[in-house]
Amino acid sequence: MRDPAEAAALRVGGLTPLTTIDYPGELAAVIYCQGCPWRCRYCHNGHLLEQETSDEETIAWDQVIEFLGTRRGLLDAVVFSGGEPTAQGALAAAMRETRALGFKIGLHTGGAYPQRLRRILPLVDWVALDIKALAADYPALTGVPGSGEPAWESLALLLTAAVGLEVRTTVPPDWDQHQLAALVEALAATGVDHYCLQRCDPTHSLDPGLHDQPATPLRQLVAGLDTSRFTQFKLRGAGY
Ligand code: SF4
Repeated sequence: MRDPAEAAALRVGGLTPLTTIDYPGELAAVIYCQGCPWRCRYCHNGHLLEQETSDEETIAWDQVIEFLGTRRGLLDAVVFSGGEPTAQGALAAAMRETRALGFKIGLHTGGAYPQRLRRILPLVDWVALDIKALAADYPALTGVPGSGEPAWESLALLLTAAVGLEVRTTVPPDWDQHQLAALVEALAATGVDHYCLQRCDPTHSLDPGLHDQPATPLRQLVAGLDTSRFTQFKLRGAGY
């Protein structure tokens, strides 16, 4: 059931009006939702992490809807990204309003809230899920104890759901091939089909210790890894 008033509570920190790379094969807009429960060392979206921000720092939902109304027939999809979109209770209502305009719905999530993810899945056509590390290694990356288990629970949920799925990992600059190999093996074993490794750009990372950290090129890190069990395997990021 649609609820425009509830949708209006969505805190939006930014909007990309047109992108060809955030939803596979579709022209899309991206809505950046405020708020995230984690503080990843390499996060470069520091301005999106707090859910409660001043009105000057956010875009009112009615402006977002007005903009989307002008893009009917021009865009195929709208992607809810963040921050962590599922951190906000208004997400489902906002997705319903967006679907009512005729757009497909994409979701970029870290999987922090599997139960909320389960509830909104009927509204979603495609999901990009960040799996950052093996579950035990999450706290060192996110700063939050117990953050790995919900992310992997979200993965298990999405692997059995009727939605398109891409699993992504941003590779921290201080990872070695053994860490990456263990993660790639675990993901292949769960049945992940579409997998993407993303180069980390630490220039604006939350952890200043990463700013000047040299990173092993992704191409070098993946050399020798068995990625043949993925139907689709990609590297993403400038120069890899
Ligand atoms: S989950 Fe994403 S938005 Fe949240 S802190 Fe980590 S990188 Fe930043």
